[in-house]
Amino acid sequence: MDLTLTDEQRLLYDQISRFATDELNDPDGSAAGERAFPSARWQKAGEMRLQGLPVPEEYGGAGLDPLSTAIALEALGYGCRDGGLVFAICAHLLACVVPIWKHGTDEQREKVLPGMCNGSRIAVNGMTEPGTGSDAFGMKTHATKHGGGYVINGTKTFSSNGPIADLAVVYASTDRDKGYHGGITAFLIEKNTDGFRTGQVFQKMGLHSCPIGELVLDNVYVSESAVIGKVGAGAAIFAESMDWERACLVASHIGTIEWLLQHAVEYARTRKQSGQTISKFQAVSHRIVDIKVRLEAGRFLTYKAASGLNRPRTASMDASIAKLFVSESLVTSAIDTLRVFGGYGLMEDYGIERIVRDSIAGIIYSGTSDIQRNIIARWLGLL
Ligand SMILES: Cc1cc2nc3c(=O)[nH]c(=O)nc-3n(C[C@H](O)[C@H](O)[C@H](O)COP(=O)(O)OP(=O)(O)OC[C@H]3O[C@@H](n4cnc5c(N)ncnc54)[C@H](O)[C@@H]3O)c2cc1C
Repeated sequence: MDLTLTDEQRLLYDQISRFATDELNDPDGSAAGERAFPSARWQKAGEMRLQGLPVPEEYGGAGLDPLSTAIALEALGYGCRDGGLVFAICAHLLACVVPIWKHGTDEQREKVLPGMCNGSRIAVNGMTEPGTGSDAFGMKTHATKHGGGYVINGTKTFSSNGPIADLAVVYASTDRDKGYHGGITAFLIEKNTDGFRTGQVFQKMGLHSCPIGELVLDNVYVSESAVIGKVGAGAAIFAESMDWERACLVASHIGTIEWLLQHAVEYARTRKQSGQTISKFQAVSHRIVDIKVRLEAGRFLTYKAASGLNRPRTASMDASIAKLFVSESLVTSAIDTLRVFGGYGLMEDYGIERIVRDSIAGIIYSGTSDIQRNIIARWLGLL
């Protein structure tokens, strides 16, 4: 497999990493104010159509193929030091924009995609519930047929962008007997619909600028036109969006690991202890070499997974392999970089402690590492 970027892909990477570096960071690179959602930067990202990278231009997107989408997100992860903003963009794009683009009606696409792609609207994906995380399809949220539409009741949790979102992609059970196969339906719901509100808002470890909370649906009535795809097709729609999320979100991690590597090398070559640069200590150089090896292996797995998104046969396994390896690699590489920096690694000015905090969530969201192993085991015929 040839992983050489085309001239267009190289240009795309350079353009987005420069934009992210210049426009999406605090001038001093500090973590100050990191708890607030950066609305102005979200809108700037929208002007670059980062929220609509793979969406056809007729719906306001950038019309990129899946691999180029991953390369653009890698550049974003390299340039933008606000992991919360990168995650907010990815959650919106991969778990909300993608299912609407792929499965929405023409009317839904025309109505919501342009605003979702240009940064004027923020979306949330509601799948997880207080009692069902890894076992997502055991959900209690139910949509009951009523007149020409559905009445939906339930509570979703850990919904990224939930507290600030304008619209939601919500999964609900429409036939409890059918369960996963035909019993789950995806709905597109405007946040200002009667009975739909934000519940508890959580303060979490890392990714601070991406707010997260509950979505409460209390007798929310939607017409049939709110169904995304077919009634009962929700599980397949969710699974496909998770393939996109797993393959492309970790592309942003690859960009972050590249940033960590560059900073670890630079620091090790200048910091002196015992009369020599710390790069001469094998304990330090080998630690940095391990970051490089993870970066190269992770990039290969990510590009392979992203290239395969249009080939559904093995897309899920490749996406899970990439997600498992890269999310774990980001945690290890962030902590390894912190070790290279010694005490300075813990100081906010260096930006590394923030990446350590931001990285941990990656081994939980989009399915924990245990769940990725389960998916891969299933593909191997072990379960
Ligand atoms: C930062 C962040 C953002 C998120 N954003 C969203 C979002 O936008 N929308 C949304 O719907 N959800 C979101 N989530 C929820 C996320 O998908 C769930 O947290 C995740 O799937 C795990 O579910 P849980 O937290 O209920 O843990 P549990 O499922 O209760 O798991 C607890 C532990 O048991 C293990 N475990 C559970 N089942 C199995 C099994 N079958 N085999 C092996 N081990 C198992 C898990 O690996 C874990 O170690 C987000 C979570 C985080 C942390």
